[in-house]
Formats: sequence, C-alpha cells, structure tokens
Amino acid sequence: MRIAVPFRKDGRRSRWAEPATRFWTFVTKTPTCWLWQGDHVRRGYGRITFNGIRQGAHRVAWQLANGPIPDNLQVLHRCDVPACVRLDHLFVGTIADNVRDCTRKHRNILIETPMLWARGDQHWTRQERGRTWRQRIATQRREELRSGLRVVIRNERGQIMGHRIIR
Ligand SMILES: [Zn+2]
Repeated sequence: MRIAVPFRKDGRRSRWAEPATRFWTFVTKTPTCWLWQGDHVRRGYGRITFNGIRQGAHRVAWQLANGPIPDNLQVLHRCDVPACVRLDHLFVGTIADNVRDCTRKHRNILIETPMLWARGDQHWTRQERGRTWRQRIATQRREELRSGLRVVIRNERGQIMGHRIIR
C-alpha cells in the first residue's frame, strides 16, 4: 500500500510513500542544479535504495522518469555536479562516453598529470619531488638493512629476490 504524503505526522519520512514522491523529498532545487540532500558516498554522489538496490541518486532520478537504464549504459552528468539529480542535466552514455566526457572537461587525472605517463626526464622519478622521495626511501632502506630491521631475501641459488621488514 502506497500513500501520497511522503512525511508522517511526526515529520519523519514515511516508508509507504510512492518511491518518486519519497525520492524528491531528498532534493533541494537551486536555480541551476537540483541537489541530493540524502545519503552521499565518496565524491558527492547521492545514494538511495530503489527497486531493492542501493544505487546512485542520479541513476534513480533518470529511472523514475525514463524507466530501466539500458544495459551497459551509465547515467552521466552534463553539469559535472555529482549530487545533481536534475533530469535535463543527466544523459545516458557508455563507459567510453564517460571517459571522453571527463577528458574533455580536463578531469581525467591520468591525462592531466604528465608525470604519470611521460617518459625519460619527464617521468615522475626524474622530477625533483620524485628524486627526493626515492632518495629518502633509499636512505631509509639502507638504515634498516644496517640495523637488521630489514633482511635480504635470497632464493636457493643465492640470488637476491628482494627484502623484507622484520616484525
Ligand atoms: Zn546539474
């Protein structure tokens, strides 16, 4: 039995409200984006249980309006606001579309961080920060080996296979 009023007399949300009615009680509409005020997961995506599945609030918004999400498609944001559930800010696309979209918006961290993929002198280990980091690790390793906190692991042929910290 579903009821039309999403709130109980005591002001709490009713479990018996229509899913769509209940859904929109979690949303605050701003002049641009409609923001999810319920549960969030990392990076600001809203979460709600819909059809027995805990899923992204933007996905639920899309499904309430359009029905099931086609296989292998994702619900993506035009506005780039993870908490946004405004229908005309959402569109469906493939994972590849999502990556392309994110690349176009300069949010693809792999592409936007040349140190991660550049070769030669541009590689992160050759950069100032990477070099100091490597030196610090090397010094620490030497010190651990000298003091016996770290032992060298050798195979049966006596070849060095790596080291291990003694605990
Ligand atoms: Zn939006």
